[in-house]
Amino acid sequence: MKAAVFYEPGGPEKIQIAEVPDPQVGPEQVLVKIKACALNHFDLLVLMESDPATFSFPFWGGADISGIVVETGNSVSQFNPGDCVVINPGLSCGSCEHCLAGEESQCNDYGIIGDTVPGGFAEYIAVDQNNLLKLPDHVTFVEAAAVPLVFQTAWRALMTQAGIQSGEDVLILGASGGVGSAGIQIAKLAGANVYAVTSTPEKASLARTLGADHILDRTSGDIWKELAELTDHRGVDAVLENVGAATWSQSLRSLVKGGRLVTCGRTTGAQAETDIKLIFWNQLQIIGSTMANNKEFSDVMTQFFQGELKPVIDSVYPLEQAREAYQRLEAGEHFGKVIIKINAD
Ligand code: ZN
Repeated sequence: MKAAVFYEPGGPEKIQIAEVPDPQVGPEQVLVKIKACALNHFDLLVLMESDPATFSFPFWGGADISGIVVETGNSVSQFNPGDCVVINPGLSCGSCEHCLAGEESQCNDYGIIGDTVPGGFAEYIAVDQNNLLKLPDHVTFVEAAAVPLVFQTAWRALMTQAGIQSGEDVLILGASGGVGSAGIQIAKLAGANVYAVTSTPEKASLARTLGADHILDRTSGDIWKELAELTDHRGVDAVLENVGAATWSQSLRSLVKGGRLVTCGRTTGAQAETDIKLIFWNQLQIIGSTMANNKEFSDVMTQFFQGELKPVIDSVYPLEQAREAYQRLEAGEHFGKVIIKINAD
């Protein structure tokens, strides 16, 4: 089969189309003919940081996959050839203490499709039947591929880990990214008052259409000072932080006493300065979050299937232009998801 592979770490110029072996289907697995696969910032990190000691090249990324079941393993009971499906990219062992407690994203052996195993920038993938959900008829493959990773990440971070409540003030960093645009909608769904941080007038108006109540321009000065004015010097109850080094200290300053910062990413770098006095004096909580457990994944996908949450699609590329898709993401000018369409009819 064809795949958009790389043979060594680097930038988008390392991506090329090559023939790779077809995946083999295990007894509990199904073979999915891939129709669409979304890029995430995470794919750039996998490409840049792939360690020859742990990766076997060629490798191909892609966590967010939709497609059609074409073959089922002997023990598969829930799916049949012809089923349209979306894949949960989280891989868990099912038997460690965390999996048994229903916290699959805390699995001792947790992995993600497109990172720990090759992903969806290819014509086919074999996956465990427990990672599949059937698609309702009204959902397109492109829309479905835009949802799983960022929406489950934003859902767990805001709903479970930060525990946001109706009426609270919530700050969403990186509003034009995948997690940010999902976060705005989820925070609104929870009844929060949403402050979104972005850069250009176009991105600001898109953030507003997603439901953001207030837009802050990250290029016009200190976010926390602007927030202080907007909130009568109170600050926000919770911050969804996935930008990292560039915004970390401002995010901490933006919080009300007793506020919660939930972090689920580091697109501008993982090393940041923390004013410890701010943490204890303001009695802040810093909370980590990664992906979601199976129940949270199912909950957020149900909201999407019912039309309560909508993915934002930036652009769609054919597999042959996977390199250009990576470049679009790297340039940082996108709003929402960059998608690769595969096996187009
Ligand atoms: Zn486990």
